Amino acid sequence: MFAAGSTIGIIGGGQLGRMLAMAAARLGYRTVVLEPQADCPAAQVANRQITAAYDDPAALAELAAASAVVTYEFENVPVAAASILAATVPVYPPARALEVAQDRIAEKQFLNGIGIATARFQPVDNDGDLANALNTFNGSGVLKTRRMGYDGKGQRVFRNMESGGFAGVCETMGNVPLILEALVGFEREISVIGARAPDGNIATYVPAENIHRDGILRSSTVPAAVSAATADAARDATAKILGALDYVGVIGVEFFVLGDGALLANEIAPRVHNSGHWTEAACIVSQFEQHIRAVAGLPLGDPRRHSDCVMENLIGDDLARVPVLLTEADVLVHLYGKAEPRPGRKMGHFTRLGPLPSAG
Ligand code: AMP
Repeated sequence: MFAAGSTIGIIGGGQLGRMLAMAAARLGYRTVVLEPQADCPAAQVANRQITAAYDDPAALAELAAASAVVTYEFENVPVAAASILAATVPVYPPARALEVAQDRIAEKQFLNGIGIATARFQPVDNDGDLANALNTFNGSGVLKTRRMGYDGKGQRVFRNMESGGFAGVCETMGNVPLILEALVGFEREISVIGARAPDGNIATYVPAENIHRDGILRSSTVPAAVSAATADAARDATAKILGALDYVGVIGVEFFVLGDGALLANEIAPRVHNSGHWTEAACIVSQFEQHIRAVAGLPLGDPRRHSDCVMENLIGDDLARVPVLLTEADVLVHLYGKAEPRPGRKMGHFTRLGPLPSAG
């Protein structure tokens, strides 16, 4: 256990790093952020920023020297950087989680290997592979980059394609390794936020139901409209993933829910997750505090919620909604300190709690 006053290193300076730094501060920890962009959202609330590339050897040495433990806010942290750090300081979650989450094929093989179902998939390295794979999946599928995909970037959907017409597709995807997934006719999308402590204790929050638009999360509603059996199965699968990775910290696991309530795991994120922002308003211990507790070796908090709620992202010009949201009684607004509201850019979010007692 790291005593209050210790420093937690955070790789990545976006809004997730910012919220981790805020949670760390409330538990008495100091934070140092490694991020190339100066005055990033996390550095605005952290004790210190090391302004350098994530794989800069001198910066990594500085981060290791300054930190009692190092964590990260995004899954594309170079595995080599995590390994260099891990030689001198504990790094949580473990490098194995990064390896699995950074490659969609390794991820699906890992999930299938521990008995968790996913969409069917095939590797695609050229237009001929794509034609074959689409043929196997009856002409429909979602083509994705194997690596470095986020918020629906690097994806293309095919529906009822006859053979042919694929010339040049792989080139437009950047001639990088790809994966074709069978197109899943899901009824809804849910996600589970789970945490595992170094002693093996696990806490999972109830699933949130997520709506995406243009590949970006728009809202998360809690509870999700699924049966108790489906909710339990999603939480059990999350716990199984945490155990299999010998994980420490918070993880986000996204699932497709089929018409019969069965689940297919879509993606795992080895970090705090946008679809878990609701926990800051509706639970005593948020996902951010839960992550800090786990990596600092403190006991995990109670993941129960005290309210139902809906979290909505404020993207680009949605920022104009803030003055009105601030006048609403049961709404918690959270802004990320980003200067320019560009289209598609996550500027903040808000969580509206379910009916609260009016008195007091
Ligand atoms: P991902 O980047 O894998 O999370 O995908 C972004 C979004 O695209 C998901 O949240 C789904 O809405 C949709 N999607 C991804 N994969 C599939 C699939 N195999 N079948 C149907 N929809 C998908």
